[in-house]
Amino acid sequence: MAKDYYEILGVSKQAGADEIKRAFRNLARKHHPDVNKETGAADKFKEINEAYQVLSDPHKKQQYDTFGSSGPGAGGFGGFDFNNFEGFGDIFDMFFGGSQPARRRSGGEDGSDLRYDMTITLEDAFSGVEKEIEISHYTNCQTCKGTGSKPGTTPSRCATCGGTGQVRRTQRTPLGAFQQITTCPTCQGAGEQVTSPCSACHGSGRVKASHKVKVKVPAGIDSGYRLRVTSAGDAGRKGGSPGDLYVFIHVKEDHRFERQGADLIYKKTITFTQAALGDEVTIPTLEGQATLRIPAGTQSGSNFRFKGKGMPNLRGRGHGELYVLVEIETPQNLTAEQAELLHKFARLRNE
Ligand SMILES: [Zn+2]
Ligand SMILES: [Zn+2]
Repeated sequence: MAKDYYEILGVSKQAGADEIKRAFRNLARKHHPDVNKETGAADKFKEINEAYQVLSDPHKKQQYDTFGSSGPGAGGFGGFDFNNFEGFGDIFDMFFGGSQPARRRSGGEDGSDLRYDMTITLEDAFSGVEKEIEISHYTNCQTCKGTGSKPGTTPSRCATCGGTGQVRRTQRTPLGAFQQITTCPTCQGAGEQVTSPCSACHGSGRVKASHKVKVKVPAGIDSGYRLRVTSAGDAGRKGGSPGDLYVFIHVKEDHRFERQGADLIYKKTITFTQAALGDEVTIPTLEGQATLRIPAGTQSGSNFRFKGKGMPNLRGRGHGELYVLVEIETPQNLTAEQAELLHKFARLRNE
């Protein structure tokens, strides 16, 4: 189970940098192994230190707040690797052109990245949301610890490549002979061959399993962004690195608001008497209702701005605006009396 760093330091999630520092100093003084000789003090101190390392670094804190951790039962993988922050790169990689993380080569075959499509509402995008998703992926086989060999047996050297993991192939062409070095097809580069396969995974070292992963979706997100959960993809084979899980975000169309970046547009139809005489109307916002005062003489197509009532800015501070676009409805199906009044109105205005 992942640790709650806020709980360890005894501060709320809203705590500022100063409060976090104060809490850390107080706890560190109390639990420092030089001072505190109780058993477990050193572990406690380590835990406090770890929590502070993350929460005092704005970048790491954001990662932690965004991704939280893999939920209970996630066991097999970290979901969030604190030793590999660099690997995260930019969390908000765009669909295309996002920089690929440098994958450490560790021998064997790396696990595949996985894609998960998540649809959220505009309200979710407005406030930010934490969702638990269930993914099906390959994890290391617990029986053989990913080696693929029956416990108690060891793999033998690969006969095809002699343990090097690579094979040379000579190609004869009219221009001469070329040597090509490729990954050994028998052992996939591991240099070893399983002689007594593990019965749980049939020698592959991996089993399919379902895991629940908590994904923190930051406020202000829009369709076209993806969130990366490091190492939550398929497990690697024969010592390869696990792949990552990419959560692709889709924000559902909202029937009330049109979104343009951080700005929202709401279309409000008013009657022509409201436009001519002025009125107060209720309009929806993503934080409840607001009142729009329509001044007398408002023209069709007028814009009214509600400052800061748009979507949160994904990067940086503040919110976009909410624009109310006013459209005037021309009355239809007039009764004789209404028509007479409008004729009179027109005469009075010399129209
Ligand atoms: Zn196994
Ligand atoms: Zn081989």
